[in-house]
Parts: sequence; structure tokens; C-alpha cells
Amino acid sequence: MGMYPRKCKPVNEGCPKRPFLTSYKTINYGSVFKKVLAYHPQQTLQKPVSCSGIGVHSGKKTSITIKPAPENHGIRFRRTDLPGTPDIPALFKMVVDTSLATVLGSQGAIVSTIEHLMAAFTGIAIDNALVEIDGYEMPIMDGSARDFTAMLKEAGCRKQEKPRWFFVATKPITIRDNDKYVTVEPYPTFRITCSISFTNPVIGTQKLVFDLSKDNFHEDISHARTFGFIQDLKYLQMFNLGRGGSLDNAVVIDNDRVLNESGLRYPDEFVRHKLLDCLGDFALLGMPILGHIQTYKSGHDLNHKFIKTFLEQKDAWETRPVEITSP
Ligand SMILES: [Zn+2]
Repeated sequence: MGMYPRKCKPVNEGCPKRPFLTSYKTINYGSVFKKVLAYHPQQTLQKPVSCSGIGVHSGKKTSITIKPAPENHGIRFRRTDLPGTPDIPALFKMVVDTSLATVLGSQGAIVSTIEHLMAAFTGIAIDNALVEIDGYEMPIMDGSARDFTAMLKEAGCRKQEKPRWFFVATKPITIRDNDKYVTVEPYPTFRITCSISFTNPVIGTQKLVFDLSKDNFHEDISHARTFGFIQDLKYLQMFNLGRGGSLDNAVVIDNDRVLNESGLRYPDEFVRHKLLDCLGDFALLGMPILGHIQTYKSGHDLNHKFIKTFLEQKDAWETRPVEITSP
């Protein structure tokens, strides 16, 4: 372990310990032949990539640079505008607020509105990256994860030596809040089913089943934008929040119509964005889940309550690398 810089702690602080392994194991079938089974390896980027844009709540412009990082580093944010450039690991225990956006904090530094970039990391299967940012709020871009995903794809993935570790669900867990719920149950791959139900006729009831595979996140999920009601936007702006919010970075609904001139990007863009938000929230586990997650009318708050319960119920999952089963 001498090759890892001291200040890089293992990625999953607060999560079960992840031992250091190589990504292959050798099974000895007697002395005649050996079969080598490959595990899913950890991945980082091939090169740094940058972008800039305004924060949806602050209205302030920030720039980010996403850099490759070593194995077991995880995703970390670094505030380059602050003295000592503090790092904030993208882990559940660093969450300090979820009322309007997911906010992480550490050593007096915060970084806000991280969920769409975190979803892109999950969608493209990036385990290790350093996100440098020169302010406290992530750029909202177009309100989706499209630009972040395109950036990560442009940077390219680099496979690393060590295996990726997963939370493998072994028993069902459910949490409820009135009729809302989040549940996970054992499943051989990662599947997520999201359902939403609004009285507003533009949204109504929508359900989506999504099996994350190599290339479907960019096309099927990443373009789905945040949505809101015109009256909520006005309300937020009364309190000096949502200052960067506009038709350029959200689907805005006024009663029975969508105000954006170009309309929707998918007929069910709303549930696709909910699913994107869920992927971003669950990314804060620090490791992907192998299991089937189902959410009904869930939001950041309920997702975070679920993650807390999940981490506490240590008899309902195990952590281990997972063999690659299909070509
Ligand atoms: Zn969102």
C-alpha cells in the first residue's frame, strides 16, 4: 500500500472496509489447468475535462475540472477557491442539507447541487475522480446530466487494476413515508424502478424500469431535466434562491402546460429525471449496489433516509467484488 499517497484515505469512510485486492482471482482446478475469472475493475478518466456555468440557487458562475484519480480514491470535490483547498468526499456521511439540493460539507467547506454530476459518474461507471470547483455551487448546466455525461465520455474511461466493490443486497429493505416508499431487494444486476404520481395533468403517473448497462444512461436518462412549477420558482426567488433558475435549465410547468418552447425531451421526462436524481443520491454510498431498487414518489429526503437505514442494516447486504458474467 506504500504506493498510495498518505492523504488519500480509502474511498468508503463510514462504509465497510474495502480490502485491497487485485482484479483477478485464480482458481486452481487441480494441476491440469487454471481458469481466471475477471472482476469488474474500478475505472477513472483518461484525462482531465472542464466546464463552467451558473449555480441554480446562487446564480453565480463556477468552473469545474474533473481529473483522473487513483484506485480506492472514490469521488471527491476540492474547493480550489478556499485557503488550504479542502477536499469533500462524495459520501453519505458528508451530507449536510437536502432541502433544495444535495449539499456536502467538510472542514467548514461545502459544495452544493452535486446530484446530477454524481448520477453521471454512476451512469458512466466512474469510481475514482477528483472534482475541482472554484465556488460552493455546481453549475446547473441545462438542468440535466447531459453535459456532464458528454464530458466524461469525452475524457474516456480508463480501467484500473483493483476490482470495484459492490453492496450486494441479500435481504429486502423497505422504508415508507405515508404512501411514499423506497425499497431494495436482491437481484443479479443493478435495476432501478421509479414511479411518480402528481395531480398535475402534465405529469400524472409515470413509471420507468431501468437496467444500467454500458451505454444506456447517456441516451435514455442523462438528457432528462429538472422540473418545477412556475409558482414554486417565483416563491424561491422571493427568498433569493433559485436565482439561476430559468427555462434554460428546467422544465417549467404552468397548470396544464409546459412553458419551454421546445417542449419535452422524452414523453416521460419527469420520471426519467427522478431516476437520474435517485442514481445521484445512491452514488453517495461510495460503491454501486447490486440489487433492485424501487422508489414511489421519492425525493432526496426519502432517498437519504433510505441510505441511512440501508447502511445500518448490515445483515441485509454484503460488500465484495463481482465477477463479470456476460461478455
Ligand atoms: Zn435533479
